[in-house]
Amino acid sequence: MPRKTKKLAAVAAARKSLSESNSKNLTPNGNPVFPLSTRPRSSSISPSRSRPRPLTAFERKMKKYRSRSRSRSPSASSSRSRSHSPIVTENPCTRTFVEASMLLQLISSLKCPQPGCGSQVEGRVNWKRTKGFSLCVQVYCPVCGDVVKQMFTSSTDATSTATPPPYTVNKLMTLAALWSDMEPYKLSTFCEVLDMPSLHQKTFNKKAQLVYGESKNVRKEVFRKAAETVRREYAEETGTDPDPETTLDMAVSFDGSWMTRGHSSLIGIGCVIDTLTGLVLDAHVLSQHCQTCATSGEWVKRETPHRYEQWLAQHRQEGCSVNYKGSSRMMEPEAAKVMWKWSLELHNIRYTTFVGDGDSKAHDRVVRQKPYGEEVENR
Ligand SMILES: [Zn+2]
Ligand SMILES: [Zn+2]
Repeated sequence: MPRKTKKLAAVAAARKSLSESNSKNLTPNGNPVFPLSTRPRSSSISPSRSRPRPLTAFERKMKKYRSRSRSRSPSASSSRSRSHSPIVTENPCTRTFVEASMLLQLISSLKCPQPGCGSQVEGRVNWKRTKGFSLCVQVYCPVCGDVVKQMFTSSTDATSTATPPPYTVNKLMTLAALWSDMEPYKLSTFCEVLDMPSLHQKTFNKKAQLVYGESKNVRKEVFRKAAETVRREYAEETGTDPDPETTLDMAVSFDGSWMTRGHSSLIGIGCVIDTLTGLVLDAHVLSQHCQTCATSGEWVKRETPHRYEQWLAQHRQEGCSVNYKGSSRMMEPEAAKVMWKWSLELHNIRYTTFVGDGDSKAHDRVVRQKPYGEEVENR
């Protein structure tokens, strides 16, 4: 097979294998997603079966995507055979905006389920117990004088590593805000316009940390799969041992970038790319900025300077974003140094041949560092 075709085939195979194993964790764009609450299979407020509502453009798109990912997932046949209702399976939405007053109006049309009562109940929102976007909705019976049922408008995320698990909607709103470049105050403005409760800045930051921690696992898995594919392709191409226990020496391409142009960016990234398949094997972000240091840290330094050292030590233990100090131009070599150092531990691979652009600083750093010992030559 010609080299280019082979490269494309390897990339396609890796994408396929990633999407199969992570179809629950990745969107079609390869972005991580978090499990959504299961859509109810039946509903008392389903539209009339005789005239199904025409699907919107978004619903049609989602339907196409869902049927594609269903046919890929191993449980496809079982989930298809579970329900034949066109109304339930064709409705792709798990969430929507609901005006609280409309919901309460619906609840107020119900009867009290207590034995011997049966009077009309009232719907209320308990704002004290409401957590961010998850409203605490209560069904109150004025005759029994009691809350007969209470529920939150969002499920909790059982797959989360946090205790207690967060409300799914709060986590997803944070993720959506982060992906749309919305800081906490922008999200608050967004919610203010919609007359919705929002997340406190501290809660937002906590959720952002949580989402970041969990996406790290997805990232790890993506790189692991990439390395697995690369190893297989190398074995085929060069006749090396595909066993992951055998150390593999290979040629990689390396490049870096910054978050902002010019030479003053506070955040930079370096990537290690396999030259045969074009798959990214590792990436490392370097940051000279930490939002907590820039806000809370500066405040502590100004208001209570004697407490600053103690505050900083505690903050570093909890996780400060700053992992680099120096010039932005030297971020690229630094990222290369870090990734060459841990490549054996990460993939049991030695990046012995370095293919870079004109900027040789990263290459020089790696050659000088001798990450694999004196006897292994880095080219
Ligand atoms: Zn009652
Ligand atoms: Zn910090």
